[in-house]
Amino acid sequence: MHLALKPALSRSWRDTETLQFGTVTRFAGVLGNADKTLCDFLALLDGTRDRPALLDAGERLGLGREPAEALLAELEETGLLDDAAAAASALARFPEPHRGQLGPDLASLTLVHSGPGAAPAVLSRRAGQRIEVRGAGRVGAAVAAVLAAGGAGEVTVVDGGRVLPGDCSPAGVPPNDVGRLRATAAKEAVQRASARPQRPAPRRPAGAPPPDFVVLAPRDGSAAFAGGWYEARQLLKAGVPHLYVGVVEEFGVVGPLVIPAMSACGHCLVLRREDEDAAWPRVLAQLADDGPGRARTPACDSALATAVAGLAALHVQVYLDGGRPPSVDGWCEVSAVDGMPRRLRLRGHPDCGCLWQPLPPG
Ligand SMILES: [Zn+2]
Repeated sequence: MHLALKPALSRSWRDTETLQFGTVTRFAGVLGNADKTLCDFLALLDGTRDRPALLDAGERLGLGREPAEALLAELEETGLLDDAAAAASALARFPEPHRGQLGPDLASLTLVHSGPGAAPAVLSRRAGQRIEVRGAGRVGAAVAAVLAAGGAGEVTVVDGGRVLPGDCSPAGVPPNDVGRLRATAAKEAVQRASARPQRPAPRRPAGAPPPDFVVLAPRDGSAAFAGGWYEARQLLKAGVPHLYVGVVEEFGVVGPLVIPAMSACGHCLVLRREDEDAAWPRVLAQLADDGPGRARTPACDSALATAVAGLAALHVQVYLDGGRPPSVDGWCEVSAVDGMPRRLRLRGHPDCGCLWQPLPPG
């Protein structure tokens, strides 16, 4: 392990002998009694030395072996140290130019995952992830591109038909792809985002393991109201975590993120809406069918779709990296009226059964 002060953290003097690491005071690490000897020692934490070499150097500098050891422990506990060797080998899993592009992403991960080597381990895991996005519209294609940019090893987008002008967005499928096959255009958006060819899209044989995560982002935005019940049932049965995301009219919705048998599912949300509004099932059933002769332009604000796609991708990453995003047992809404994100809580519905535990044997 080659210890380094996290390069993501700014360094500033609070007074003549107190160093602050990090800009936001609330989260910053503070080191007192920072005299010249201590600063000389800190300069050695550049990722070229392992712990024994650092302790030897501490002795040579006149800091002393034990104080140097105590200082390293304090820096580690405050979350200021990373393992430069692990960071280099995590980045080496990605070819250039994606590797360079991921530098700031890894720097950000070092601030979220504290101990030396923790963030590189997260980035390495991302390289092995398989994520499927269902829907290549303004939201779906953008979610896929952002996840690929963040290091997800394989991102596939499933959709049919050809690109319409309304499918395009600056974060997903570009306007000059209008008329091309949606699946191809979305695949290329993913490749551009990660600056490399993704592994060939899998034509997986029956019985192959399912993806690590599925994002349900149908173009009509119905996922925002937890549609696709059959599809969701299959994912629950297969134990595949999934996230609903979409824009309906002026609302963007992210969630629920469903951890099968562990958190409330999309059907729990449908049942809850039924409890609140007895006519809801009838309205829901008609969402996809406007009746004959009624021309309709589905609303989808570009900024809202981009915000929702970014938020959804972030929630997927937080979950796959080992955290618990607010769309678990809840959902987030962003309205184009005021741009204010809100989080709403969702409990498992007693009539749904997705959280029922099997009866104990006997
Ligand atoms: Zn449920």
